[in-house]
Amino acid sequence: MDKTPTRRGVLFVVSAPSGAGKTSLCQRLVAELDDVVQSVSYTTRPPRPGERHGREYYFVSREVFRQHVAAGDFLEWAEVHGEWYGTSRQQVEAATHAGKDVLLAIDVQGAAQLRAAGLDAVFVFVLPPSWEVLRARLQQRGSESPAAVARRLAVARQELAHYTEYDYVVVNDELAKAVAVLRAIVVAERHRVRRVGCALVSGLLQAATPATEDG
Ligand code: 5GP
Repeated sequence: MDKTPTRRGVLFVVSAPSGAGKTSLCQRLVAELDDVVQSVSYTTRPPRPGERHGREYYFVSREVFRQHVAAGDFLEWAEVHGEWYGTSRQQVEAATHAGKDVLLAIDVQGAAQLRAAGLDAVFVFVLPPSWEVLRARLQQRGSESPAAVARRLAVARQELAHYTEYDYVVVNDELAKAVAVLRAIVVAERHRVRRVGCALVSGLLQAATPATEDG
């Protein structure tokens, strides 16, 4: 059987201020919709309780991270909250070649790098329903000290200013509704004319010879 995928996967860059619920949103979409995977980034930050190497992130030392940067292994990378985060080029290419859409949950600096590089990607910004909700979500996490929460809120304020650079905005008030919106975006983008396999269209045109139009 021919296993060649009929389409190349689409890249979805999903950015949001910390605490907007981007992680749950992406996880839910991957669970609900076929042929969508989430890229697992590399980071120098230590794992939080319950996080596993290779699942949430590849947790690496600064030395190893530097080696990846030098080798050109990252599609983009940035310093966020004092730690380094990078997207594996190889992972993204393997998935898109296999016909899988890839969610990149990355910060606004990383998204800007991909946009500047002219990458064919769809840019989605996730907003919290209010500032109070954002603050409460960060405080409830419990994994962050008050100083770290304050730092994340200060960064969030700066990040919010960038939402106009994105193609879509999803307000994450109720998770199920936000997942439905993100799903609609992914499904619609899959159907853009330039992404629909031209093999399908030329097959149709070949079949539509004048002879077949007789009856
Ligand atoms: P956290 O440490 O809370 O998991 O993530 C902190 C921030 O880093 C989030 O905004 C997250 O989206 C961002 N981030 C995670 N992976 C990457 C990446 O590979 N590249 C960039 N630029 N940002 C990332």
